[in-house]
Amino acid sequence: MSEEYPTMEGPVCPLPHIESDRVVMGHGSGGRMMADLIRSVFRPPLSNPVLEAENDAGVVQPTPPESLAISTDAHVVSPLFFRGGDIGKLAVCGTVNDVAMVGADPKYLTASFILEEGLAISTLQKVVASMQSSAEEAGVQVVAGDTKVVSHGEADGLYISTTGIGIPLTKNEIGGDQAQPGDVVILSGTMGDHGIAVLEARGDLGFETNVESDIAPLNHLVSVMLEASPGIHVLRDPTRGGVATALNEIARQSNVGVLIRESTLPLQPAVQAACEMLGFDPLYIANEGKLLAVVKREDAEKVLMAMRSTRYGEEAAIIGEITHEPRGRLLMETPLGSKRVVDTLSGEMLPRIC
Ligand code: MG
Repeated sequence: MSEEYPTMEGPVCPLPHIESDRVVMGHGSGGRMMADLIRSVFRPPLSNPVLEAENDAGVVQPTPPESLAISTDAHVVSPLFFRGGDIGKLAVCGTVNDVAMVGADPKYLTASFILEEGLAISTLQKVVASMQSSAEEAGVQVVAGDTKVVSHGEADGLYISTTGIGIPLTKNEIGGDQAQPGDVVILSGTMGDHGIAVLEARGDLGFETNVESDIAPLNHLVSVMLEASPGIHVLRDPTRGGVATALNEIARQSNVGVLIRESTLPLQPAVQAACEMLGFDPLYIANEGKLLAVVKREDAEKVLMAMRSTRYGEEAAIIGEITHEPRGRLLMETPLGSKRVVDTLSGEMLPRIC
C-alpha cells in the first residue's frame, strides 16, 4: 500500500490559505468566497494562460490557426421550472452567452446530466425540449452529451453541465482587461428579473409578482453590436452577483475605476418593489439575459442604437463610464450627486439561482 501513496520529499509548498476546510454554500456564490476558492484550490494546479485571462470563455489557438472560444458551466437551479424559463433553457443560454461574451459565435454545445433516481421522465422530456428550442433560437447544435444517475436523495431532481464552443467574430480583443478610461458602460436591459422570478417560484417572496426570468440567448445581440462598431472593449453577462459584481471584476481586471449613475439603471417597478420589501439591492441580483458592454465613447450611440433595434436589447441604456480612479473600484453616483463605493458581494445571497 505504501508504494501507492509515496510520501513527499524535499520542500513542500504550504497550501494557500482558505477560510473553511469544507465546501460551504458561499463557495458557489459568484462572490468573494468563490473567487478565494478558485485562487487557492483550482488555479495553482490548473493554471495556464487561457484560464488566467479570466474571461467568460477561454480562447485557444489550435493549429491550423483558427481561434476557438470555449466555456463550461454547471446548472443547479432550484426549482427546475419558474416563470419565463427552466433549467434546460438556462443550461443552453448560460453557456451560449458566456461564449458570446468574448465576441464569439457559439456553434456547438455538449451537455452532461446528473439525474436523481425517481425523477419523472416527463419532467426530463420537458427540460430537453426546452433545451432544443433554446439551441434552435441561438443557432447552436448539441454535439455531445452524457447522463449519470445518482440515488434518490443524492441530488435534487436534475443538474446539467454544458460546454460551448464558438468561433470569434472579430480579431479585436474583447475581454475584462480591455476597459479604458473614457469608455462608456452600457447595460442591455433591466436588472434582477431572473433572481426575483426564481425566488417567487420557490415561494420565498411571500407575495405575488408578475416578474418573468429574462433568460435569453444573447449571441445575436452581440453580433449586431459587433457589426455596428469595432470599438467594443468588454462584454460581460451579469449573472450571479449581478451588475455590481460584474463591474467590480472589470474594474479589477482592467485596473480602472467604474462610475455608474443610479438614476440611469434600468429596473422594472415590480423588481424594485420586491427588492425593497426583501431588503435586496438589485445591483447584486442575477440576470440571465442581459449583458454589460464597455465601448469607446465615440461609438457608444451607434452601439446603443444597434442594441435597441433587437429583441433583447430594446431597453439598453448607458449607465456610466470608465475612469482613471479609484483603480479597481466601482462607484455609484446617487440622484443627489453623492458617490458611494459598491463592493463585490462577499458570500452567498441567493443560492442555486442558476
Ligand atoms: Mg458570464
